[in-house]
Amino acid sequence: MDEMIEFLHKGPLAPLKKWGTKYSIWPTHLVTACCGVELAHAFASGYDGERLGVLNFGMARQTNCIVVEGAITRKMARALKITYEQMPDPKFVIVMGVCGIKGGLFWNGYNMVKPFEVVPVKYYAPGCPPTPESLLRCFRALQNEIDTGEPRNTIVYPTVREAVEEGKKKKRPKKVPPPPKYVASNPSVVVDVPREDGWPGGKEIVAKLSEVLGELGERITITGRNKVAVRVSRDNFVEAARKLLEAGLDHIKSVNVIDVPHEGKFIVEYVASSYLNPEFTPLLVTMISEIDRNDPVFPSLIDVWPAADYLERELHDLFGVWFEGNPWMGRKFLLAPDTPETPLRKDFKLQDDVYIGGE
Ligand code: SF4
Repeated sequence: MDEMIEFLHKGPLAPLKKWGTKYSIWPTHLVTACCGVELAHAFASGYDGERLGVLNFGMARQTNCIVVEGAITRKMARALKITYEQMPDPKFVIVMGVCGIKGGLFWNGYNMVKPFEVVPVKYYAPGCPPTPESLLRCFRALQNEIDTGEPRNTIVYPTVREAVEEGKKKKRPKKVPPPPKYVASNPSVVVDVPREDGWPGGKEIVAKLSEVLGELGERITITGRNKVAVRVSRDNFVEAARKLLEAGLDHIKSVNVIDVPHEGKFIVEYVASSYLNPEFTPLLVTMISEIDRNDPVFPSLIDVWPAADYLERELHDLFGVWFEGNPWMGRKFLLAPDTPETPLRKDFKLQDDVYIGGE
């Protein structure tokens, strides 16, 4: 068998195989987000991507390429990995949109996964959304790579011409970094994953937060550059928030609820930052707590950070968490009055459609 594969790769038929692969790129597209519209655009009559030998398929087992169309969440990461593993070799991954590169609009979302941490990515089409031209450019680059075996950038960036002072050595032009090829064995689905690399001031910030919170901060973890997660119990949450406010974290960026039905809990997150204290300005501090899913009552933080008000109202609508102290509880805020309750809980089921007429 190995000999036959070797023959196919290196024997007299190798150019034919290469030519066949080059013009038989069949992507299974993962329409994970709004970038999918631009993929449709690239293959509609205007750009007609099919003329390049690229034909979108719905079935993973007959395809050799995945186009990840935008954001990948933790839930989707598993589907991405499974789809990739079902595909026959040789296989390639192209990622569309800034959401798939660094999180894009959802850069601080607890649920974002970078596709390159799950599967090896060949080419990125940047933009929000990227243009159909840039997606087609990725396919052309991939075809060139199949042809020549050389990965090449699709764009040649101009290098900055600096004036060379006399007697000084001329600097070499900087190269554009290649895409990362790190593949995680399993997509991570935990909330505060420690990632300390590349943030020299991180440890001092953790020490400072430990000093501010004392025993209220049960665990403080660096989760990325300028990102820290603090575990606080439900009963100590308001007091801990006040201490952070006094220390200079003067506003709230977002409030999230994560439904974990198999463990019978909700995870509640408040992401705080600072406009006025330069020490904390780039920092995002996520306070995390867990509550019982059957009795989802949590203390409101509107007296500490008033901007939490609308976010708590939304989460009350969507998950049914009761923020004690927020006067809006018990009413609908975003949803129409006849909308079913708590539509973002994972066990929420849409009502069956009723068809009228016909057997
Ligand atoms: S990059 Fe823009 S268009 Fe693409 S998924 Fe993200 S938000 Fe949507």
